Amino acid sequence: MSLHARRIDGVPKETSRVARAAFPKGSLAMRIRDELGELFSDADFAELYPNRGKPAWSPGRLALVSVMQFAESLSDRQAADAVRGRLDWKYLLGLELADPGFDHSVLTEFRDRLIAGDAGVELLDRVLEAAAEHGLLKAGGRARTDSTIVLSAARQINGLVRLGETLRAALNSVAAHEPEWLTGWLPPEWFDRYAIRFEDTRLPKGKAKQTELIEQIGADGLRLLSALHAPDAPASLRLLDRVQTLQQMWIQQYFVDNGHVRRRDLKDRPPGAERLVTPYDTDARGSVKRGVFWDGYKVHLTETCEPDSPNLITHVATTDSTVQDVRLVAPIHAHLAERDLLPDRHLVDAGYATAREVVAARRDHKVNLVGPILASTSWQTKDGGFSQADFAIDWENRQVTCPNGATSSRWAEDRSQEGTAVVRARFPTAACRPCETREQCTRSNSKWDMGRRITLRPQAEYEVIQQARAQEDTQEWKAQYAHRAGVEGTISQGVRAFGLRRCRFKAWLRHGCSTSSPPPL
Ligand code: SF4
Repeated sequence: MSLHARRIDGVPKETSRVARAAFPKGSLAMRIRDELGELFSDADFAELYPNRGKPAWSPGRLALVSVMQFAESLSDRQAADAVRGRLDWKYLLGLELADPGFDHSVLTEFRDRLIAGDAGVELLDRVLEAAAEHGLLKAGGRARTDSTIVLSAARQINGLVRLGETLRAALNSVAAHEPEWLTGWLPPEWFDRYAIRFEDTRLPKGKAKQTELIEQIGADGLRLLSALHAPDAPASLRLLDRVQTLQQMWIQQYFVDNGHVRRRDLKDRPPGAERLVTPYDTDARGSVKRGVFWDGYKVHLTETCEPDSPNLITHVATTDSTVQDVRLVAPIHAHLAERDLLPDRHLVDAGYATAREVVAARRDHKVNLVGPILASTSWQTKDGGFSQADFAIDWENRQVTCPNGATSSRWAEDRSQEGTAVVRARFPTAACRPCETREQCTRSNSKWDMGRRITLRPQAEYEVIQQARAQEDTQEWKAQYAHRAGVEGTISQGVRAFGLRRCRFKAWLRHGCSTSSPPPL
């Protein structure tokens, strides 16, 4: 397929006349055409097509069809029928009344091109450009962001079933590619063990029996991997996705102890961000939020929330489920900056707002990130002792003064466990040992080092925290922050009306559904 980019020059006269007669009050499709004009042009998709080959159906029109198809929940066949038979769609697409449209399979091919070219975001960009041209969107003002969970398209499976299914999936894949090799090698008893889905079998009850089966599956998987790596096995089998998944899952879940294959303890398995949860969707990860466990992803929506214009989604990002919200702040701002859509104030919940992000947003983009900064989790704060807020910090002279007037004896710039910059200050034992309020301040009971220690963020972040906490109690801040809650309505609409809660296909991230990757911490 090649692209012969054409301009869509308005709506043909006869199409317009007949469509207006049939829809005197217009329809959604006609309003889009009237309000936003030729939303997508063929040239927007030129990079997705080769220069040679049979001419493709207009990608600009296919993009419009895809949007309408999604809005009306139509199958590919129904959407192709609508292009052929509906007057308002012909009006939207600028087609002659007699235009026969296209075969429904063209839509699949178009989506494949969008995915392969990571061009899904282009659709949103064009809509936002059109909105900006019509004065519905501008830089500055207010925006808000929130996230929600997205369930993997693969069914959720746990423990024993996950391991059995991983081996079964690899066997099925090998059977499809080299059936003769597999039947010549397969131990006969495996037909009973791996012929049907594990969740459809009667699994043993009791921990000992389950452990026995888990280790049996582990030994079988290792045996298969060894056979696949033997010199006489077809090399192509080792490269099959499901075989690679088996290998990765086995490394994560098993080890060999004196010739026995054993399951790793939980603490010896990789962290959640790396751990496979199903062989059928290797991008999905397991996570928990407010007591809800799920396998899959997270989606973050950012929308404008100005009082005198419509709320428009300006950024969508998908990450695996283990990525913390705070890691999306910088990518969201960078993405909006590239499109000249940065807000002045960005309302977020506590998951996104840390002192570091507030400082970075101001410094890098002049964006005021507004959200509650999490309270300190130190025991002093919880038990009403002397928290950091009770100490006076003299940044210039690099000294801290405690509520009893003692001054710190050490001040050192250092790194936290996460690698971020911190300042560590310490009070002398001579001041703290005899202190009458010591129990409210430190639990250090070392004979030689009884001084209070304090870890501070860098000055800019420290001051942001102090300011933010002071502001959070004011009516003005509360009134401003109240606008953040509206994004939950948008997310709810996405879940209820557009199926946002569940992936439409497996391996979402690998197929280019993330518009931005969060940077490493
Ligand atoms: S324990 Fe030390 S730092 Fe804490 S209040 Fe007493 S003198 Fe000050």
